Amino acid sequence: MHNVIIIGSGPAGLTAAIYTARGELKPLVIAGYEPGGQLITTSEVENFPGFPDGVSGIDLMTSMRTQAERFGATIIDDAVTAVDFSVNPLKVQVGKSIYESKSVIIATGATARKIGIPSEEALWGRGVSACATCDGFFFRDKKVVVVGGGDTALEEALFLTRFATSVTLIHRRSELRASRILQERAFANNKISFAWNSVVDEVLDTSLGKVNGVRLKDTVTGEKRVLACDGLFVAIGHKPNTELFADQVELTPQGYINAIDRTRTNVPGVFVAGDVQDIHYRQAITAAASGCMAAIDCEKWLAANAAE
Ligand code: NAP
Repeated sequence: MHNVIIIGSGPAGLTAAIYTARGELKPLVIAGYEPGGQLITTSEVENFPGFPDGVSGIDLMTSMRTQAERFGATIIDDAVTAVDFSVNPLKVQVGKSIYESKSVIIATGATARKIGIPSEEALWGRGVSACATCDGFFFRDKKVVVVGGGDTALEEALFLTRFATSVTLIHRRSELRASRILQERAFANNKISFAWNSVVDEVLDTSLGKVNGVRLKDTVTGEKRVLACDGLFVAIGHKPNTELFADQVELTPQGYINAIDRTRTNVPGVFVAGDVQDIHYRQAITAAASGCMAAIDCEKWLAANAAE
């Protein structure tokens, strides 16, 4: 019987692990399919406080993991296959093993939706990104393109105008989905231009290992053309990793886990942290902060509800 099982090992899960381990709760962390989370595919993190020269995503996550283990967290590099939160103790299944716990912190993160073409995958982190806040700085005086027509795409495009000489928004239709106010701002910004009815058919140039353009396909005529650029930002939405929990805890209409009271879910003893409950910020530092909050909420809940 565990005190707390943490599902996920990004900044939220590992911060929750550091705090609960220091609280003598001996947390068990099930690291998931991508130990370390989204930061593992980020080459350089320059906005995490405490690293004035930047830090690679892998180094940052390895340090967090070492720190959690130093205080007594046990980390299993495997993925949870099922949970049962209708019983007490709560059950977490990893393949054939079933772990029982008084409490659970869900920190399974979110996954940026990708266009789904091989060249995007090959150049991910090498000019292709899903986070302007993280990577925009690298495109000072460069040309970038943003794919998507929703609020995120327009926010990313507007943010990128601080650095880039030009931003082209590539949208598959001729009408944006984004809110009016963002549309008006984008239309009024003379650095932003639009490629309507267009999808990215290929990111160039995989043979160089960096982005120097995109090949666009017109969704109406099928015509193809090449647009020169130095970076591609994919902003076609995020998918919270909630498949395991759909019939176990309450979700928001957008499919995120509903944090009803700070980090508490609707199930007693089940807490949530990080991008799996966050549609707005999606930053390593905010995920880490919510991991800390979930750990403190969980410790207090255990002290009040689950005496040894
Ligand atoms: P979203 O609203 O789902 O928009 C996704 C966009 O990507 C849509 O324009 C969609 O095109 C396009 N798209 C989807 N799949 C695509 C594909 N395979 N290829 C090309 N284009 C594709 O996602 P979001 O912009 O990330 O926003 C998510 C939620 O957060 C929304 O509720 C949004 O309002 C909210 N949000 C709010 C703010 C704010 O208020 N400041 C900021 C960010 C996000 P179609 O339009 O053709 O479907």
